[in-house]
Amino acid sequence: MGLRIDRLATLYVVDPLRRCSFAGGVSIPILMYHSIADEDEAGVHPYYRTATAPTVFAAQMESLHQAGLSVIGLTEAIRRFSEPEAATNSVVITFDDGFHNFYTNAFPILNRHGFTVTMFLPTAHIGESRLSFKGKECLTWGEVRELQKHGISFGSHTATHPQLHDCDVHSMKQEIVDSKQTIEQELGCAAQSFSYPYAFPETDASFKGRLREQLLQAGYENGVCTTLGRPGPASDPFFLKRLPVNSDDDSQLFRAKLAGSYDWLAKPQYLVKMAKGWATRWSPSVA
Ligand SMILES: [Zn+2]
Repeated sequence: MGLRIDRLATLYVVDPLRRCSFAGGVSIPILMYHSIADEDEAGVHPYYRTATAPTVFAAQMESLHQAGLSVIGLTEAIRRFSEPEAATNSVVITFDDGFHNFYTNAFPILNRHGFTVTMFLPTAHIGESRLSFKGKECLTWGEVRELQKHGISFGSHTATHPQLHDCDVHSMKQEIVDSKQTIEQELGCAAQSFSYPYAFPETDASFKGRLREQLLQAGYENGVCTTLGRPGPASDPFFLKRLPVNSDDDSQLFRAKLAGSYDWLAKPQYLVKMAKGWATRWSPSVA
């Protein structure tokens, strides 16, 4: 395994410093999961891995339980930003991509703890019969309805999971509106939340403005993205930051992430995105 500078800096520099200093403002961690399965991601850098082994997931949920954290939904999290005491011990759990292994591997563990979570569905990959996405089987609408009866919330992850940043205004609107309508028709209740697919273009202010406008017009109330960190009262409710989690998050790193010791990584990531944006703008166009 390659050297994990993010892990070393988090555990041996930032976490000790954070423990010695006074706590900052109110923030609530939002965990981001994808696949809950034993998958071989050896060729992928640990930061970008998206699979969490069921045994690791069970241990992570047990540690939330042991810590006495209150597992809440996104709407409640936004409400608690104005209540520092309630926010202190709160956490939100989210899943992207609608994989079938949520039903078989994650839900039994969540149900045991009585934890509520939000699953974001790419609706074109959810069918009455089994469809797949990224080579993995997805939930069916029957399973989604069954999970809904047991308290799982569902939001939109677009319809076809495109790079929205590259879409024209019309197809972007279609992805945002159609996926919301499909969920509402299938489940008979409002789809309030949106999860941006792929890396969020956080440095493109005009794109974020257009996207926010479309989400508002479509009737969404909040949303999450892949920007790293823990959101607080000053966060844009449509682009709430999250903490990516996978099998490489042992109990030490998992606890450090929840406590805010991983948030530092957002700054270098932002600078890299800015640099890439400049490089794209200033490089000669290729025919
Ligand atoms: Zn996704």
